[in-house]
Amino acid sequence: MSKSRSSRSLAKSVIKEVKISRGKKLKFQKRLLRWYEEFGRDLPWRRTADPYKILVSEIMLQQTQVDRVIPKFHEFLTKYPSLHALSQASPEEVRKTWYPLGYNIRPYRLREIACESVERYGGTIPRKEQELLSMKGIGRYTAGAIRSFAFNQDAPILDTNVMRVLYRVFWGEGDPKKYKNQLWIASKHLIPRGRGYDFNQALMDFGAMVCSARKPTCLICPMRDICRIHS
Ligand code: SF4
Repeated sequence: MSKSRSSRSLAKSVIKEVKISRGKKLKFQKRLLRWYEEFGRDLPWRRTADPYKILVSEIMLQQTQVDRVIPKFHEFLTKYPSLHALSQASPEEVRKTWYPLGYNIRPYRLREIACESVERYGGTIPRKEQELLSMKGIGRYTAGAIRSFAFNQDAPILDTNVMRVLYRVFWGEGDPKKYKNQLWIASKHLIPRGRGYDFNQALMDFGAMVCSARKPTCLICPMRDICRIHS
């Protein structure tokens, strides 16, 4: 069986297993996008399509809250306005600029990505999934984020927030981490064609602001009547 055929049949079995009917899928898409239009956050990295800036934001946002990232995002880009500039800085200097964000492997990784981009792609970020994944420091989530946020592709993303939202709405109670592969399939299947950028941004905001880990606001949630947690 060809690779795309086997991934299609895997996707079908996941959709069937969690009963993502066409009606529920459309409701989820429509409500999420409508919610995002009204409540989505205005964040600096949503005002640019520059793949480098989006990469910097994505690496900074790993395990760090948005409020802490915003000032550092501006400072970092003022100091290193391009992949070339970042690749020419010393690792130690980049780490110092990163302070106090923490999780200090990230500045080194980011600089290495910049060096690789300069060496292999002339100082640009590639847009193809396989090329992105072949770069050290870029995993499946970051590749999906760059493809959808910088290149407007309908590429899936799956971070902790997205995983929690999809799991609660389509699976119900339990531990989403056990279903990571199925959740990747669902996150791809649910993207409305041509709306990958907004849909993924919306999912992340929704997970942070409504369907949060500790205090989900189910009473006023637009998904309440289709959410498996409540049915
Ligand atoms: S109803 Fe509650 S659990 Fe379900 S999506 Fe909304 S906030 Fe999350």
